[in-house]
Amino acid sequence: MTTTSTADDRAKLLQALAGSPCHNCEDGVLVRQSYKGNRSIVCDECGLPQIQLLAMPRVE
Ligand SMILES: [Zn+2]
Repeated sequence: MTTTSTADDRAKLLQALAGSPCHNCEDGVLVRQSYKGNRSIVCDECGLPQIQLLAMPRVE
């Protein structure tokens, strides 16, 4: 059994968060959007990214 979060899990997380109210402003709603090349979810009002899916850092 693996406990590693997969990209698919994170995609589902974004999907679940989409449409939620923004934590930073009153009227904002979170929408899925690409942010600096990463899948993320941002507020459609204030534009602040709520979550950012970064590529896993490479362990050398
Ligand atoms: Zn906002």
